[in-house]
Amino acid sequence: MAKTTDSSSDAKGDKPDAPSLNFVQEIVEEHNRTGRFGERVHTRFPPEPNGYLHIGHAKSICLNYGLAKKYGGKFNLRYDDTNPTTEEQEYVDSIREDVHWLGADWEGREFYASDYFPKLYDWAEQLIREGKAYVCDLSGDEIAKYRGDIKGGKESPYRNRSVEENLDLFRRMKGGEFPEGARTLRAKIDMSSPNFHLRDPIMYRIMHARHHRTGDRWCIYPMYDWAHGESDSIEGITHSICTLEFEIHRPLYDWYIQSLGIYHPQQIEFARLNLTYTVLSKRRLIQLVQEGHVKGWDDPRMPTISGVRRRGYTPQAIRKFCERIGVSKFNGVIDVSWLEDALREDLNRSAPRVMGVLRPLKVVIENFPEGQTEELEAVNNPEDPSAGTRKVPFSKVLYIEQDDFRENPPKDFFRLGPGREVRFRWAYFVKCVGVVKDENTGEVIELRCTYDPATRGGDAPDGRKVKGTIHWVSADQAVDAEVRLYDHLFLKPDPDDVPEGNDYRANLNPKSLEVLTGCKLEPSLAAAQVGDRVQFERLGYFCVDKDSAPGKLVFNRAVTLRDTWAKIEKKGK
Ligand code: ATP
Ligand code: MG
Repeated sequence: MAKTTDSSSDAKGDKPDAPSLNFVQEIVEEHNRTGRFGERVHTRFPPEPNGYLHIGHAKSICLNYGLAKKYGGKFNLRYDDTNPTTEEQEYVDSIREDVHWLGADWEGREFYASDYFPKLYDWAEQLIREGKAYVCDLSGDEIAKYRGDIKGGKESPYRNRSVEENLDLFRRMKGGEFPEGARTLRAKIDMSSPNFHLRDPIMYRIMHARHHRTGDRWCIYPMYDWAHGESDSIEGITHSICTLEFEIHRPLYDWYIQSLGIYHPQQIEFARLNLTYTVLSKRRLIQLVQEGHVKGWDDPRMPTISGVRRRGYTPQAIRKFCERIGVSKFNGVIDVSWLEDALREDLNRSAPRVMGVLRPLKVVIENFPEGQTEELEAVNNPEDPSAGTRKVPFSKVLYIEQDDFRENPPKDFFRLGPGREVRFRWAYFVKCVGVVKDENTGEVIELRCTYDPATRGGDAPDGRKVKGTIHWVSADQAVDAEVRLYDHLFLKPDPDDVPEGNDYRANLNPKSLEVLTGCKLEPSLAAAQVGDRVQFERLGYFCVDKDSAPGKLVFNRAVTLRDTWAKIEKKGK
């Protein structure tokens, strides 16, 4: 086993400030030292094309691709397409797009387990000839029963067929002579092994099903364990990294490789990613899509790569997240806020700031001339001076956020109220001098205000201070938009925390989507393109959704802001 890094490493003479390695990197370095694979590092990401990739897969991709990159090695994209009934071309295409988008480059090394079907078939005959595999006529149920309990299993009555009979039957299985489920090919290992996976595991089953790549050429299909290590071996993979539940399969992985006498990669297991408020299992994600709980695989509430991409996530943010959560052997649950934080940090650096009002309240500046517009200068990104400035129009009629006005403001409310003065971001001090109410409902529908022309740019020459700064949009030039706000898809950190007799779906959050229409945005957004990401000042980071059409902008809220605004308010600007 690889050594572990701890505080005692100094004493052993290691460089004290050498960056610590994760346990997989330590294994790789150990192999490099012993020369197990020369100095070669060759990893792969092996998705089964039976669904869209999710954030958990991103962890695996970052780990595998990251290793290849760190050690100057190679990285393969391999479709583990051995189960024709659940796999589809649509999934193959989406996986390719998602891996590419994440920034993992397989440099043309795109492979398919189904391309190895002929080779696997030959190897199966080899095992039969060596007495290491046999054709079994037990049904699936019988095989399960014979597999037994902890005390041991029972040998199949077909276990000791002759090589000739086995070869004949296996060839006829391949030839399509038998109905589905009639026979299997099994490895002849050990029915009393404490490891159930070694109790004569199935290698091939008969399935008269059309495969998305090989069509009707095959009617026997290899099981995962029989195909996976062999595919790794064919491709010259050095480190075959998988999730912990495959640890118990490793003896079988090794048995197949050793029995065939072929090149032997090292299987290494790591803990899968689990996230709070999230389900990460293709089976469940398919269910959410098929039952209409979400609007598709790329619904921005989905933890799929395509979902988070549409929501506004960047590949950089996801990679940063994967780096931070690290790689270990211990199953745990990561708080979803880690993912959100990674996005905030990334967009804080890169996203231009703009002003948008989600729930507009009309403001009339009484002392501003009718029909006039003034252009004010606004900073695009205080974190990035090279992003420059832009002009925002100011005029007599503006919109502010309904939340930024209170008729009877509490003590710690620093925004607008009757008789109060605040700063309008990038513009002037504005004072509320009157309120117009709906005659019937009594609801405030308009504010009457005055502005102080001497405060242009945001400071008063007489040194007068205001406590609040709010965003606004000029009515005449405003761009209308729909804005979609998202909350967690599940109500509880652990979606499986449900009353007896329910499943995770009982925890679906009925308010995970809120659609706002009639939002008012500053005119610089008129030209926004699908996928553009911006910060609406004080509100969060938003991304233009693909449902947008010319003249009809739709934004997704990717993530809210933390209290960066509180800091700005403190600084007084
Ligand atoms: P699911 O359980 O979601 O259906 P899977 O493991 O069946 O996922 P595969 O397509 O077989 O999906 O996975 C491809 C690779 O991604 C495998 O190496 C698998 O171990 C890894 N992987 C899948 N889910 C996670 C996860 N939550 N965290 C880390 N790696 C994962
Ligand atoms: Mg799988």
